[in-house]
Amino acid sequence: MICNVCKAREAEVYQPHSGKRLCRKCFIEDVRARVKEESLKIGLDKANKILLAVSGGKDSYVLADTLVSFIDPQKLIAYNIIEGIHGYNRREQIEQLRKYLSSLGIELIEDSFKQSVGYTLDEMMKYSIGKGLNVSACTFCGGFRRKLINNAGRAVSADYVATGHNLDDEVQAIIINLIRGDLLRLIRFADKPIKLSSKFVLRVKPLRKVYEWETTLYAYYSGYQFQELECPYISTRPTLRAKVRELLYMLEDKKPGTLLTILEEFDKLAEKVRNQTQLKEELPTCKICGEPTSYGREICKNCELLISAGLLNY
Ligand code: SF4
Ligand code: ZN
Ligand code: ZN
Repeated sequence: MICNVCKAREAEVYQPHSGKRLCRKCFIEDVRARVKEESLKIGLDKANKILLAVSGGKDSYVLADTLVSFIDPQKLIAYNIIEGIHGYNRREQIEQLRKYLSSLGIELIEDSFKQSVGYTLDEMMKYSIGKGLNVSACTFCGGFRRKLINNAGRAVSADYVATGHNLDDEVQAIIINLIRGDLLRLIRFADKPIKLSSKFVLRVKPLRKVYEWETTLYAYYSGYQFQELECPYISTRPTLRAKVRELLYMLEDKKPGTLLTILEEFDKLAEKVRNQTQLKEELPTCKICGEPTSYGREICKNCELLISAGLLNY
């Protein structure tokens, strides 16, 4: 079968959400065009500096590769955090990532939980379990990662922090926050980022309209050797996400394009909510670390976790 776009090469990919059959080249171009469209919408092309939060997984590679197709690599700087998970964080994986980014002309900054928080994730978990806490590793991991990424963005005076979240990640997070009724967290998933604190660097997700299967295929076609090891803590992840993921895939299977529709409709709703007065107030700062925390809190969730695990005295 011939590609529906160039009408010259053999089609290799079927895109259920568009109904198109594409050759490799047109598929790559299609993904890049969607990333560019999403990025231009938020003015990423006009930024002086963008910090790319990279993990070494396929989405990090796709993020860097698609962005350099329309942004000067000198404006991009990558940042990687080693969580300190035994058997998962490997030196050769970081070197592989550094080599690839350097081939694109992007510098890589390395950081670790050990260096910037004082403990590896394994250590935090050991203490947390020792104290009888029922907190998943992902709660520690996600919270500290967000904090360190924001600090790094500020340190390099970045206008934006870009992460490699794809469409599947985004819609799962939107549904989870809807179920929890957490409007403030929910609104942060909108296409146009909002700044709730002057200490926050705006977070953007250029891959948010790209399906996960597309990022996998893009990485595969581009010949990346990405991290395929699974985090040993993944089985302890909260089960709600796994259930939501399953449900969304079932819907997508029955009606291709469902995830895209949910995201686009959500963006329209978010635009209206954005104008609410409460969202314009600056977030309070944590009494311990000085970083922004949620409305009504004196101590941020990260510091609270360390205190509960017996790793911080207050
Ligand atoms: Fe961190 Fe959880 Fe992801 Fe592992 S699965 S890297 S603990 S967020
Ligand atoms: Zn083609
Ligand atoms: Zn704090």
